[in-house]
Amino acid sequence: MVGNALDLVLLGPVGAGKGTQARRIASRYGIPHIASGDLLRQHRQQNTALGRQAKTFMERGALVPDDLVISMIVERMRRLDAAHGVLLDGFPRTLAQARALDQELTEEARGLKLALYLEVPFADLVDRAANRWTCRTCQATYNYRVNRPRQIGLCDLDGGELFQREDDRLEVVSERIKVYIQDTVPVVEYYRKRGILHQLDGTRSIDEVDGAIQQQLEALEART
Ligand code: AMP
Repeated sequence: MVGNALDLVLLGPVGAGKGTQARRIASRYGIPHIASGDLLRQHRQQNTALGRQAKTFMERGALVPDDLVISMIVERMRRLDAAHGVLLDGFPRTLAQARALDQELTEEARGLKLALYLEVPFADLVDRAANRWTCRTCQATYNYRVNRPRQIGLCDLDGGELFQREDDRLEVVSERIKVYIQDTVPVVEYYRKRGILHQLDGTRSIDEVDGAIQQQLEALEART
């Protein structure tokens, strides 16, 4: 084990439930939930230079270039609230990003403790994305079949308006799955070889997956 910070990554394809689980883990362990997709969407909303550069890649389901995403994440990880650990969601998505993350953590005498991998059959993903509604304000996600908000159209957490992301449309989701297989599956294997990957069945209920993650984290705490 490297350092005392609780540095975790959550991997899985589009629609696997990463965001939902990430929010729970982050609030339970008091570490920031750093979601590269959420950060990029904020940049687009605020019309920053990065947001403008990222736009066309995101619209077609392609990856935003590594150098842009890496510097955005590194900058976020250097803020004070990330000193005791982070939960990364949606990053790393390429081997270059995984190596950059290792380098950043090593420089701070830290190291990844666990890579949680939410596995869902590719056949289920399009359907999951099609039923996904996202809060405009806090980006929490709901699924109108299995994880409905208390009031249709409104976020349980802050009452924000729920909308369907443009890139959750069928054609774009298919592209995102292709990109995932090509660029991100090698990252899963990278962590598996290192012995820090823990695979979870993402088709189970939200509470069941949450319970399995908690068990893993408790086992991790017991070892350190
Ligand atoms: P997400 O919300 O994680 O599904 O991300 C939405 C979109 O943002 C992706 O389809 C990519 O275009 C872009 N994106 C998010 N994270 C990354 C990343 N780590 N590397 C490159 N592009 C990313």
